[in-house]
Amino acid sequence: NAIIITYTTCMIISGKEIQTKYIKILQDKVSEMEHKPVLVIIQIGENKASRVYINQKIKFGKLLGVPVEFYQLEEDVTLEFIQKLIGDFNHDDDICGIIVQLPLPQHLKQFQFEIIDAIEPEKDVDGLTSTNLKKLMSNEEGIVPATAKGIMTMLKESDLEVRGKHVVVVGRSVLVGRSLSQLLLNQDATVTICHSKTKNLATITKSADILITATGYPGLITKDHVSESQTVIDVGVTSTGELLEGDVDFEEVSKIVENISPVPGG
Ligand code: NAP
Repeated sequence: NAIIITYTTCMIISGKEIQTKYIKILQDKVSEMEHKPVLVIIQIGENKASRVYINQKIKFGKLLGVPVEFYQLEEDVTLEFIQKLIGDFNHDDDICGIIVQLPLPQHLKQFQFEIIDAIEPEKDVDGLTSTNLKKLMSNEEGIVPATAKGIMTMLKESDLEVRGKHVVVVGRSVLVGRSLSQLLLNQDATVTICHSKTKNLATITKSADILITATGYPGLITKDHVSESQTVIDVGVTSTGELLEGDVDFEEVSKIVENISPVPGG
């Protein structure tokens, strides 16, 4: 009786290691600058989850030597006030980057485009102004949303070529799915975008060379959604009690695919 033993040779793509390398590059770059590039973050109203992200950005700025100025505005602030404040920052040569933390409070949600577009495109570090999004669409150099850019960096640093590959992206937000799909297309990948209304998700995801999921729906991608020799990048981050969970059933999926990024650490 033959005993068949199968070994999994799945490579773990470590975002942490790549991050460490880039922190060093950025620290060196900043230390050589005569005028330190100041980042301004504006938050309108209170939002606990957003505050966690802002604190991370402030901490990361410290690590790089980039001063971060944080402005918290009252929830009932007017559109005109916000636009005037952003205008002042646009004209301040010491300020190199401006972030308006999203989501906005309910009464300002309808003005999101006006608020973001008040930012000078060269200072729009989130890459969300219409000028930068248009550049992304037309494959011109501009500032692109950081998560999408980070995923492209992960693929490049892992020597995973996207040109000519079928890449399936699950999620279609401007911040992640759409921007990423456009970057992939700009680098000659064949891109399929899936979302919550997609039928036969598993059939589509199984056909990918590279599967990238960004939904915030833990356990969405199971062993039935993947096939051998695939690369799976899990962008999803959902906090479930003490734990952070991705979109992928890591335990099962890592037994099948060739490369995978874990959550956390991916
Ligand atoms: P979002 O705006 O809520 O978008 C989620 C997307 O997922 C939507 O397009 C939605 O489809 C799709 N979706 C939801 N449930 C689905 C399902 N059952 N099947 C297929 N598609 C489904 O979220 P986001 O801002 O793009 O963020 C997505 C995830 O990435 C979140 O977990 C977030 O925390 C994480 N994230 C991680 C980083 C990072 O640095 N790792 C950065 C940013 C975000 P519809 O459009 O049809 O609703």
